[in-house]
Amino acid sequence: MCGKQQVRMAGGVEYILQRKKVKRINLRLRPDGTAAVSAPSRVPAEQIDRFVASHAEWVSRAREKAARRAAALAVPPPDAARCRAVFAAADAVVWPLVAEALDGRRPEIRVRDMKTRWGVCSPAQYRITLASRLAAQPPAAVEYVLLHEYVHFFHPDHQAGFWGMMARLMPDYAQRRALLRQSV
Ligand SMILES: [Zn+2]
Repeated sequence: MCGKQQVRMAGGVEYILQRKKVKRINLRLRPDGTAAVSAPSRVPAEQIDRFVASHAEWVSRAREKAARRAAALAVPPPDAARCRAVFAAADAVVWPLVAEALDGRRPEIRVRDMKTRWGVCSPAQYRITLASRLAAQPPAAVEYVLLHEYVHFFHPDHQAGFWGMMARLMPDYAQRRALLRQSV
């Protein structure tokens, strides 16, 4: 089903073209930063070049983002002692916001070297798992993530009820979340 690969250049973007049984032209960035295009065999190469050229800015932005992410992941996460200290400080701020609603039952908080998520809430295990890399983020952002996971004990999804509770407990949660997005 997969045709031959061809390296092409359009709008300053080098890309790998692969002919496939797809419905339309698909452009994606591979984890190593290579632009890859799959396209149906009936679409002329010139049309694909134009498509890629019109997405040159998207490709360069996506490449920058991938490079920033790779650089961030190349830095080792804070050690266990540092994580414990940072997360205990955040919990001292956040736990009082939910303590009553959770009947004073503190969930277990675990730390793991996660690369794609800052935190995970597991209501069945009554547990919150935080990424060790989170400990390198600004305290205001760490508190946001921790509260986010606590609120998942009440709202498993991200529907209006979830964000309503976030806003009530932490009115500046959006600014805190923005700090997190700028960092990685
Ligand atoms: Zn969530």
